[in-house]
Amino acid sequence: MAAIADKMGVGKTSGAQRHEQIVQSIMDAIADRRLPPGTKLTEERLAQIFGVSRARIRSALSALAQVGLVELRPNRGAYVARPSADEAREVFEARRIVERGLLERLTRNGPLPPGALARLRAHLAQERAAEAANDRASTIRLSGDFHLLLADLAGNGTLAGFLDSLVRQSSLAIAALEARPATDCSAHEHEAIVDALATADGTAANRLMTEHLEAIENRLAPDARAPDVDLFAVFGSVPSPLRGA
Ligand SMILES: [Zn+2]
Repeated sequence: MAAIADKMGVGKTSGAQRHEQIVQSIMDAIADRRLPPGTKLTEERLAQIFGVSRARIRSALSALAQVGLVELRPNRGAYVARPSADEAREVFEARRIVERGLLERLTRNGPLPPGALARLRAHLAQERAAEAANDRASTIRLSGDFHLLLADLAGNGTLAGFLDSLVRQSSLAIAALEARPATDCSAHEHEAIVDALATADGTAANRLMTEHLEAIENRLAPDARAPDVDLFAVFGSVPSPLRGA
């Protein structure tokens, strides 16, 4: 999921690297829901946590705002974005369009090569293991990564980068709007999609993917709870090179 960070124009100096590390740390915490939608991102506290100036934090937050993960409210500061039900619908519609195109690309030339199928099966095994271990952060990450792996195998970098952004947006929407705690994706549904790909049944793969994305979207419901999050607890394990600089 490095595609968004790559697009943020981070360069090669150590200052730019630190910028990238901070952006990535916050992005990861949003992705695995340690920072739920609506969480206030206090500049001063983040500056203390990462051991950098407030200006550097402001620049990281502004980069995250550009990709829709953070909302900057005038005179009130930065918050983890909280997509509305309408925005969530748009994101899922975009995903259905993009992922249908990716599956068509994948199945255009007959059955997937054995190497590609092996990668998908290995990924499914990881998803099942994370689910069985009740490892929520890994389950969320792996379920998004399944879709990005399909994009990677389809071999269109532009669509893959677009999907990376959409998966992050839909994960935020799920965190903001899901009626009850549940995972983004079911490993079982992913397995059915891979089975269809294994037999080069593009029609079935596309139908299963559409149903899969609709099932996730149908679990969403408006939810106005404001989270109360301790930033120090979230970033308690920031790698030491990020401190004291
Ligand atoms: Zn999925």
